[in-house]
Amino acid sequence: MRIWVTRPLPDVVVDAARACAGEVVVRTETLPLSHEELRACLRDYDVVLPTLGDMFSAEVFADVPSSRCKLLANFGVGYNHIDVAAASAAGVVVTNTPGAVTDATADIGVMLMLMSARRAGEGERMVRAGVWPGWHPTQMLGLHMSGKRVGIVGMGRIGQAIARRCHFGFGMDVAYVSRSPKVLGFPAERLEDLTTLAAAVDFLVVAVPGGAETHHLIDGAVLGAMQPHAHLVNIARGDVVDEEALVAALQARQIAGAGLDVYEFEPHVSEALMTLETVTLLPHLGTAALEVRTAMGLMAVDNIAAFVAGKDVPNAV
Ligand code: NAP
Repeated sequence: MRIWVTRPLPDVVVDAARACAGEVVVRTETLPLSHEELRACLRDYDVVLPTLGDMFSAEVFADVPSSRCKLLANFGVGYNHIDVAAASAAGVVVTNTPGAVTDATADIGVMLMLMSARRAGEGERMVRAGVWPGWHPTQMLGLHMSGKRVGIVGMGRIGQAIARRCHFGFGMDVAYVSRSPKVLGFPAERLEDLTTLAAAVDFLVVAVPGGAETHHLIDGAVLGAMQPHAHLVNIARGDVVDEEALVAALQARQIAGAGLDVYEFEPHVSEALMTLETVTLLPHLGTAALEVRTAMGLMAVDNIAAFVAGKDVPNAV
């Protein structure tokens, strides 16, 4: 067995992969796989542990007709960078790491809600620039988050974890749209329509998976339905939000602010977004904590171990 780990990972994860079987090669580069490396994955390895940005498109599978690789054990819950139908047609199983990422990503979602509502980035920039004139009663007034209404777009694991924090931590009303109704341990109103939800909330938080089905789900019409004091938060995938429409909505002050962890053309962040004071920009920090990344890696390795042992993989997508 030849196993390729496509990014440096915590030592404990690499050690666990080495304990699985065979030869484990760890790629030292931190950026996504190149055109040639993607094809080498399928041609030269039995198992690959890829992650965000490794674009396993249908073209890649078509270019390597008899794939030696039979498992893509993705590091991360989101797998919109892998064409799962093409993988399956090529006999390649895809797994992910659900659950390991949930709380950490929900925490970042709530942090972005607070940062956007309370103008934290803007205030920090003012202090660092040495232009803070001192406290006064009407300075930098933001939106008070406690007791407001949050709308969750995609009430899955992360959406529910954000809603739970909002309800129990901030006494907020929760509303949501999702493909299916959810049984939750707290009150939450399911609305049929995204535009209706957008119009009815103070915070709209995006937590759907990326991919063709959700591309530009948050478009000009949804942003236009939001109230002028409301904030948009996206911790899902960048292209779920039409970034050009978001810039236009922020510039026209159709909405009060936005908090983004992900970007449509990641890692490129447009000049227009960078110059807006009303947007909080994070560098995809959702799961960026050592224990979380370790748990994700160990989950990916569990899938590899099961595959190597000829058992059912626990997290097939
Ligand atoms: P999940 O449990 O599968 O939840 C996704 C939810 O979205 C589900 O409730 C699903 O509805 C709903 N949904 C799917 N398509 C929809 C649509 N077209 N309209 C409305 N709702 C839709 O996934 P998760 O673990 O919460 O993760 C969600 C996403 O967050 C991941 O796919 C990933 O891209 C992103 N993420 C980002 C970071 C980060 O670092 N920023 C970290 C982790 C994850 P049903 O329940 O009815 O199927």
